[in-house]
Amino acid sequence: RELPGDPVKDNYTRQVSDSLWSAVQPTPVRQPEMLAYSQEVAHMLGLSEADMQDPAMIQTLGGNGALQGMFTYATRYGGHQFGHWAGQLGDGRAIYLGELIHNQQRFELQLKGAGETPYSRSADGRAVLRSSLREFLCSEAMHHLGIPTTRALSLVTTGEPVVRDMFYDGNPQFEPGAIVCRVAPSFTRFGHFELLASRDELPLLKRFIGFTLDRDFADWWPKTGLLLDIDHPGQALIEAWFAEICTRTAIMIAHWMRIGFVHGVMNTDNMSILGLTIDYGPYGWIDNFDPGWTPNTTDAQGRRYCYGRQPDIARWNLERLAEALATILPDSHGLAQGLSQFDQVYIRELSTALASKFGLDNWQANDGELINAVFELMQRAEVDQTLFFTHLKQLDISQPQLSTLQAAFYTEQGYQQFGQDVQAWLDRYSQRVQQSALTPAQRLQRMSENNPVYVLRNYMAQEAIDLAAQGDNTRLLALLEVLRHPYTEQAGMEEFAKKRPDWARQKAGCSMLSCSS
Ligand code: AMP
Ligand code: MG
Ligand code: MG
Repeated sequence: RELPGDPVKDNYTRQVSDSLWSAVQPTPVRQPEMLAYSQEVAHMLGLSEADMQDPAMIQTLGGNGALQGMFTYATRYGGHQFGHWAGQLGDGRAIYLGELIHNQQRFELQLKGAGETPYSRSADGRAVLRSSLREFLCSEAMHHLGIPTTRALSLVTTGEPVVRDMFYDGNPQFEPGAIVCRVAPSFTRFGHFELLASRDELPLLKRFIGFTLDRDFADWWPKTGLLLDIDHPGQALIEAWFAEICTRTAIMIAHWMRIGFVHGVMNTDNMSILGLTIDYGPYGWIDNFDPGWTPNTTDAQGRRYCYGRQPDIARWNLERLAEALATILPDSHGLAQGLSQFDQVYIRELSTALASKFGLDNWQANDGELINAVFELMQRAEVDQTLFFTHLKQLDISQPQLSTLQAAFYTEQGYQQFGQDVQAWLDRYSQRVQQSALTPAQRLQRMSENNPVYVLRNYMAQEAIDLAAQGDNTRLLALLEVLRHPYTEQAGMEEFAKKRPDWARQKAGCSMLSCSS
């Protein structure tokens, strides 16, 4: 509320100017019920188990009335969607409950799916159970994988149907509605800055940068040795800040590539200023390795947001942010330095991550060739990316056997046809490992810490969704539990460590997803 707000206090859809937020009220729902909550996030916010089961809390997390001290609003942002400037977007279905400070840490809480806001455009402000469950589970899974991400406190069903056209047959479908309460130090996106620049609201752009530095980068900016004038942040500080955003984004993308995560909708309005993974929609995990794969049916033609393009797209998005910042910097030479920092940090982070995944002590000049060779084989032979690594770590380096990897192949044909090539690669790899200074135990440990056993494949989420739609949350809770320790083999959890079953390859929701959620 330190920044200018929209004078109109109503939820109706409109263009807003000279403001960063609009006061809105969540639209009440019929019957909120808690399907699941995250113990860790509750704890992080200072909420007890009793708090989470309190009927008043469940009502609030379903959008039925704020608790004392809450102030509800939606923010105004724009964005480049699929490569094109889209104008004002904003929080069309996310409503902030305000900020919460606990243990000297500040958190923003948002209800996603809590009804229309001034930014809902032609949509309904609601979210369906399948998309809310996917966001809830995945943000917690990503956190436990060690990846910067927004978090999720709760998943509440609304007892109200939501209309969606899921299968594109022209007939509206009713689906159960649900609301996620998500949590992050800040939900600010590249698009917040882009919109102010595009509308020529430059004094507000400056103030917002100052506000963001002061509030969201309080631990960082003093390290630059520069001074912060909140109303008029200086050029050197803005350039250094941009480079910091580039660094954080590079680190996040290297993590995505490390574990085979595909975000699916990397529009600039879905890019967090803090370098957090944000806005879980039609995301997915690489099953059979394929850099051209995207889980997003809306993107199936162009494959703009496929796995292999994520680093380039992140950089493209940073270039759009740089353009927005350049509107207030007379000579924006320093912004180009930030972009080259993205390139450097990304290469550094990715090569370190790959060396660890392959159990190497460090990254050497020839390792790129060795590693590219096996990724190419994995693609041609249809090998599961996650299983490849969890089995590679079991390889006997003194006598490498192709059969160690057999379970990671999707087809017998791929195993037969490419077996010799993979065996030859294993021989080369074993030689490389033997030159490495790591003991077998150290190698095993490094590989275990960097190669997850459990990832949230789309079909697994879909199984939890199908049951949850019938009011059964057992599968959801089992997944939430197993994904809390993704790098640790857990007794009795083998079913969550398998490759995608054949039936899931084409089934709706199990491989590809649409944006409509
Ligand atoms: P997304 O593609 O999910 O990142 O959403 C892009 C924009 O559309 C954002 O401004 C969202 O708030 C908005 N949006 C998506 N779904 C809905 C919905 N059901 N109701 C209102 N706004 C939505
Ligand atoms: Mg979004
Ligand atoms: Mg979304």
